[in-house]
Amino acid sequence: MTTKETVAYDPQNVFARILRGELPCNKVYENEYVLAFHDIAPKAPIHVLVIPKGAYVSFADFSKNASDAEITGFTRGVGQVARILQVDGPGYRLLSNVGKEGGQEVPHFHVHIFAGRALGAMLP
Ligand code: 5GP
Repeated sequence: MTTKETVAYDPQNVFARILRGELPCNKVYENEYVLAFHDIAPKAPIHVLVIPKGAYVSFADFSKNASDAEITGFTRGVGQVARILQVDGPGYRLLSNVGKEGGQEVPHFHVHIFAGRALGAMLP
């Protein structure tokens, strides 16, 4: 993993450790570009995290510094995970917290997939 962003990537963050196999996860899907696993503290009946394999701090970092192949691979990976979870029909929510004011706790870019119940209107 390489870092190309001014915000330093912390290689000891929990998702980096999961990617390296140093910590376990309840895996949903993995390919060359992404790893998807269940959130340890689910906020919906289905709560899955999708992370890129590259070392990106946040969506801001990823959208600026990832290659086109990584961005395409990640986007298609998220869609594939939604299909595996069989939430395409009933629907789901994608969310990515960015930075301190965005409420991001783990400094490795990730998208949350929430599903399994009616989620209601989007909240701030
Ligand atoms: P954030 O606020 O950064 O967008 O969300 C981080 C998410 O990661 C939280 O929903 C939290 O429950 C989840 N999380 C934190 N540590 C772990 C872990 O060790 N394993 C898993 N599976 N999820 C984690």
